[in-house]
Amino acid sequence: MLDILQMIRAKDPVEKEFHQAVKEVVETVKPVLERNPQYRNMAILERIVEPERVIMFRVPWMDDQGQIHVNRGFRIQMNSAIGPYKGGIRFHPSVNLSILKFLAFEQVFKNALTTLAMGGGKGGSDFDPKGKSENEVMRFCQSFMMELFRHVGPDTDVPAGDIGVGAREIGYLFGMYKKLANEFTGVLTGKSLGWGGSLIRPEATGYGCVYFAAEMLAAQNQTLQGKRCLVSGAGNVAQFTTEKLIDLGAKAVTLSDSSGYIYDAEGIDKNKLDFVKKLKNIRRGRIKEYLDKYPEAVYTEADSTLDYNPLWNHKADCAFPCATQNEINEKDARNLVRNSVKLVCEGANMPSTPEAIDIFLDHKTMYAPGKASNAGGVAVSGLEMAQNSMRLNWPREEVDSRLRIIMKSIHHTCLEAAAEYGMPGNYLVGANIAGFLKVVNSMLDQGLV
Ligand code: NDP
Repeated sequence: MLDILQMIRAKDPVEKEFHQAVKEVVETVKPVLERNPQYRNMAILERIVEPERVIMFRVPWMDDQGQIHVNRGFRIQMNSAIGPYKGGIRFHPSVNLSILKFLAFEQVFKNALTTLAMGGGKGGSDFDPKGKSENEVMRFCQSFMMELFRHVGPDTDVPAGDIGVGAREIGYLFGMYKKLANEFTGVLTGKSLGWGGSLIRPEATGYGCVYFAAEMLAAQNQTLQGKRCLVSGAGNVAQFTTEKLIDLGAKAVTLSDSSGYIYDAEGIDKNKLDFVKKLKNIRRGRIKEYLDKYPEAVYTEADSTLDYNPLWNHKADCAFPCATQNEINEKDARNLVRNSVKLVCEGANMPSTPEAIDIFLDHKTMYAPGKASNAGGVAVSGLEMAQNSMRLNWPREEVDSRLRIIMKSIHHTCLEAAAEYGMPGNYLVGANIAGFLKVVNSMLDQGLV
């Protein structure tokens, strides 16, 4: 096992996020490898950590002043053992090969957990959509797709949105794909409703995350009713996590962006959330502006000199990190535990550092890893692909009910796998083992390819 970690560190020494994601999976599937020597003999670990294909390309584009910029584009086609590559596209200045490889690696196991036939991939660019005009964003998306189109397709690789890529960007990407490929197919998910999108797709990651948390609580004879919840982020996942928390009687008291966070002791109700949706999705403003409308809330500016995030230092029952990777460190985890948080359910991908996860597990905090609890987004993307293939649109209730069933099934699968391997109640172990087994057994069935 150690060999694998040493191998990837030696091969790609600077990819620290990728090392982190691999280490977590490899450590938790150790008992599976001990029980099944054929996985070692068939070099399954060596194969699963190596992407099937990495595509890296130049994305030149012109700004409104006529100046030329060059960004870097990526698509990681990680594993296609159980279906076409599937995973989002991220536009954020922090994007690099390490971040996308960690996301693609996580995606492989997440997609396996959904019960749908989807392999794992991820892509993106170091382009920052913040502060860009509508036309600049459009030109960038078009240039990005001018290269990507030859590597994707409805039965090959089906990208979706992620940080910085929402319905607007998916529209521009789809338009250029359609023009270049001369076909109208479900090559992307997260499309708008009028041209092949699915109802509930925008809501799916956040709703699914809260459905998962509700299942965790139900397993302890509890509900979300009346629970105080800390939510980070203010984008797609955070907005719909907050919405479903309100629906189920919980009270979300925080939201954030990279500039800072708001704390609203009275709770963020439906009206306040509508304001945030308009602020973030239409005006593309900062979360600080929440106080212009609701001055009773408190705004705290992000402070990079602190070694903790004060958002996680409020009394609460549950925490839903929905912004980005490694946003909860060891100190944050200690603060959460001290402030009586009993459940941490990840909406973002890998938001807790390994040290933070150890603290949750040591303190018996109910902890759901993102690859299980945020799988609702990709699950409904899978349902969007199914609807596109049938040229049908399912009603909202049908998609929502399928989403609930899938989240319930993922919850059950995690607990079952964890119990089978002697770690009852450990969702991290359960998610990794169940996802791993499905993928590696499919790889073995398909021979050395
Ligand atoms: P959005 O772009 O809609 O929102 C991201 C939010 O997180 C924004 O509020 C953003 O603030 C904040 N954020 C991003 N990067 C940082 C950073 N480095 N530091 C502090 N805050 C940051 O993205 P999504 O809501 O779609 O994605 C959020 C998380 O959920 C990501 O980890 C993503 O991979 C994961 N996820 C998303 C899915 C989806 O369906 N969209 C599916 C599964 C997982 P600011 O605007 O200031 O940058």
